[in-house]
Amino acid sequence: MIKPNRHYADLKDSYLFYHIAQKTKAYLAEHPGAHLYRLGIGDVSLPLCGAVIRALHEAVDDQSDKDRFHGYMPECGAPFLREAIAAHYRKRGTSLDDDEVFVSSGASDELGDILDLFDRQSSALIMEPAYPAYVDANVMAGRRILHLSSGEENGFLPEPCEEARADLLYICSPNNPTGAAFSREKLARWVDFANENGSVILFDAAYEAFIEDETVPHSIFEIDGAKTCAIEICSLSKTAGFTGTRLGYTVIPKALVRSGMRFNDMWVRNRTTKTNGVSYIIQKGGAAVFTEEGQRQIRENILVYKRNARVLMDVLDALGIWYCGGKNAPYIWLKCPGGMGSWEFFDRLLTEAQIVGTPGEGFGACGEGFFRFSTFGNPEDTKEAAARLSRLLSE
Ligand code: PLP
Repeated sequence: MIKPNRHYADLKDSYLFYHIAQKTKAYLAEHPGAHLYRLGIGDVSLPLCGAVIRALHEAVDDQSDKDRFHGYMPECGAPFLREAIAAHYRKRGTSLDDDEVFVSSGASDELGDILDLFDRQSSALIMEPAYPAYVDANVMAGRRILHLSSGEENGFLPEPCEEARADLLYICSPNNPTGAAFSREKLARWVDFANENGSVILFDAAYEAFIEDETVPHSIFEIDGAKTCAIEICSLSKTAGFTGTRLGYTVIPKALVRSGMRFNDMWVRNRTTKTNGVSYIIQKGGAAVFTEEGQRQIRENILVYKRNARVLMDVLDALGIWYCGGKNAPYIWLKCPGGMGSWEFFDRLLTEAQIVGTPGEGFGACGEGFFRFSTFGNPEDTKEAAARLSRLLSE
């Protein structure tokens, strides 16, 4: 009889968002018609920009024309998009070959699939609080997981240390949920650590487009030595509103080699076996993001979210509440006031101010006592939520 993958039994129920939805539903059942101010969402609220929409329409028309129609796309990505992405990196001072860029249907897919490249016996280091998929994908594969806690004392940016020795090192910068971002200097310490130990860094750059500080790198490949120890996973979800359209890209340098095997070649082999590429239409829409017009327009959308962040940060500053994030990321990570626990604060915000946020405890044990606000909501609701938060916590 076939045996299932027994590691699925080791997965913990993803109770965080389920629990939030249950509590919210119960509140609405008791208070019909109440308006909730949703600062919990990790999804964008603004539509795709004009340049992308135009490119999508044109690509649909191509598919209706015998001479311009496209069937299967190259598995690793359309040359026009790989070229546009590599050129985008070059503009920021990082040289990449087009075939070091792989087009994907989003970072989530890649974060799971990429694990195919590594031995099942290899260990994975998760810096917590963390995006829950890192842990779950490794549990499914039966890998040994090391949890590295971070906290207020290091600004949620842990340093390499003896307990961090693992084969795979997950780094998410700017981070979800904390919004904290590694400076070049701090990231360089992780790059050196990985090279010294023969580890590979899986660098999740899903939020790089939100970086404001000059000292924070947009790509790990801005750091010397990263090409021999890192894979970068990127997404157009938050950068350009592609959460429902689905497009991302992954950079695997040819210099990344372990035990004589080149991960770039292995990924080509993997993709050509396990995918038939991303749709032509979506890749055309994605290429528009990297045009001058596209870059200008996505920037305008990001600025709307950044203004939301400013409104919330001003209130937290005035209340003297400790937080990080907000500046280089669309998330603000705050310390629950008065020593409240994450869920206790959640309940107070919901019942007394009709605000829905995300309890930090759901991102790892060291997130207890902290709380995440997302800045992806609409500006009017965010302003009203900030005013309610201010009133509630000044009482
Ligand atoms: N990585 C992080 C840190 C995220 O927060 C998210 C989505 O919220 C993803 C990856 C997934 O992005 P995508 O929509 O490209 O699958």
